[in-house]
Amino acid sequence: MAEQNGLHLPSLVDQVVNAIEELKDSYPAYEVHPSLRSDQAKAAAVLKELTERLEDNFPYFHPSYAAQMLKAPHPVAVAAYLATMMINPNNHSIDASPATTVMEREVLKQMAAMFEYPEEFLGHLTWSGTTANLEALWVARELEPNKKIAHSADAHYTHSRMSEVLGTTNVSIPTDATGRMDLDALEQELKTGEIGTVVVTLGTTGLGAVDPLADIVELAKEYGVRIHVDTAYGGFFKLIAENHLAPETARHYSALKDADSIVVDPHKHGLQPYGSGAVFFKDLSIGKFYKHDSPYTYFISEDLHFGEIQLECSRAGASAAAIWATLKLFPLTEQGLGAALIPTRNAASNWFELLESSDVLQAYQKPELDILTYLPRVGSMSKLDDISHSLLVDLAKCSREEQIHIATYVVKPYQLKARGFTISEDAQQARILRSVLMKPEQEAWVPRLNDRISDLTRQLMTL
Ligand SMILES: *Cc1c(COP(=O)(O)O)cnc(C)c1O
Repeated sequence: MAEQNGLHLPSLVDQVVNAIEELKDSYPAYEVHPSLRSDQAKAAAVLKELTERLEDNFPYFHPSYAAQMLKAPHPVAVAAYLATMMINPNNHSIDASPATTVMEREVLKQMAAMFEYPEEFLGHLTWSGTTANLEALWVARELEPNKKIAHSADAHYTHSRMSEVLGTTNVSIPTDATGRMDLDALEQELKTGEIGTVVVTLGTTGLGAVDPLADIVELAKEYGVRIHVDTAYGGFFKLIAENHLAPETARHYSALKDADSIVVDPHKHGLQPYGSGAVFFKDLSIGKFYKHDSPYTYFISEDLHFGEIQLECSRAGASAAAIWATLKLFPLTEQGLGAALIPTRNAASNWFELLESSDVLQAYQKPELDILTYLPRVGSMSKLDDISHSLLVDLAKCSREEQIHIATYVVKPYQLKARGFTISEDAQQARILRSVLMKPEQEAWVPRLNDRISDLTRQLMTL
């Protein structure tokens, strides 16, 4: 397993740890303070306990884990992060991170180019999609303090939560039977003249649905509102949109360049460890909102420090280094990182095809990206909920060789009806099944996942 991805992680880790130790040794020798010394054997024992305790995890790295948005980072990101963390630069200030600030500028340029953003933009990495979205909503509020922010009912909950933090009023726009923002409902809201910014999600967290951005851009022009695109999950699908997503989906991806701001999470589809989001703004003048001053700020260099254009203060230079190294191996092209997304998308569409002829399972809706929602073919809400929950629990209980991990997703009767299901409404809501197929290896695993889940569903249905 150490040979994962054709790379030998222990050798890469060895290489970088030795190189950084050498770097440290090139400065005058000094005694480590006694307060920080510890016994090698003791430290080893603690770390042994750590790795044992880490047994208490689901195998997020494995294709049998087809549940939530979780996967292991690429080995090159792990080695780059570790190497950089040993020095621990802080990308808040250039003086605290000369090398990794430059790397961050390089990766931001590549991501902005992926979205076909202009060469001149304002942006930076963040610790998460949540902080990245918070900044975009904060800028929206600063620009139009008395206006509301609209997002779809299926937008990430971060938008309503951050609106509480910011004291803005949010309006939730209903979604249609494909999980996309309903255009007519949006236009009704825009007609009130009270909306300042529309949050458009390309790749909703639950269903992987893509809001009709290209059409919303037209409406936004007509009604004079701003657009923020939350593509924390779906952003990197831009690389394969043209040739591997449905033409209608691709049309909305090509409108990304018209957004006023964009958020993407490299820690979702960018092969990165957690602590990796990013936000981009088209209008450079919003930089004025970030102005701050403090006696302990250490902006020596004349160039723009990330600390001058971000809400967060300290931020890991290691994150920038990890993305930088990853994009060297997997550039932001269809043949580069895109080659890892095509199979995830195939996994979802192939599984959807299998479900079309299944006697026990059916798709909730056609997947647009690589998130599949599906359900047992049963007649009532209560039975649906029971079987879905049993599947989740029972499939995970097996031996490591046999276990499979899936997630559930809560739906209401009207949402099932909108998708053409007839079901007896003996409960207000029910859990259905959801699999985020974000690991390229899952393309090969789909038949196996489908067989195992179908077999167990068949058994549960006859109980
Ligand atoms: C994951 C996600 C977020 C939140 O990002 P975090 O990195 O988890 O904080 C926001 N919006 C969407 C669409 C997401 O998928």
